[in-house]
Amino acid sequence: MAFDYDPQNIFARILRGEIPNKTVYENDHALAFEDIAPQAPVHVLVIPKGAYMSLDHFAMEATAEEQVGFMQAVAEVCKQINAEDGFRAIANTRDHGGQEVPHYHLHILAGQPLGKMLA
Ligand code: 5GP
Repeated sequence: MAFDYDPQNIFARILRGEIPNKTVYENDHALAFEDIAPQAPVHVLVIPKGAYMSLDHFAMEATAEEQVGFMQAVAEVCKQINAEDGFRAIANTRDHGGQEVPHYHLHILAGQPLGKMLA
């Protein structure tokens, strides 16, 4: 499938510094920042700095270095959020997955029991 990235999406604008964000962690390949409408006491979004629209786009086309950099950002967020009690990571993907912002992002939710999503 062809991945058609929109460079005007809101996270691309955050990466260009056009919109402020509350940064939790940043490295050469990824940015982690607080979600503007948190759904849990901790709600962080981790995004790659490259132009990838979804998890599958990132998994198929990002370089190994970009993928490692992304996972290092996930690791740093986990260290910062006191992850011992657990958390949920979600990557909504396109229409059926309920994705609203077409730049790959991993939601990390924590800080309270989150219930069970899948039976
Ligand atoms: P999606 O539904 O695409 O998986 O999630 C998009 C997320 O981005 C939502 O949780 C929403 O609250 C968050 N979001 C949308 N616009 C902004 C923004 O301008 N700044 C931040 N920090 N988060 C945003």
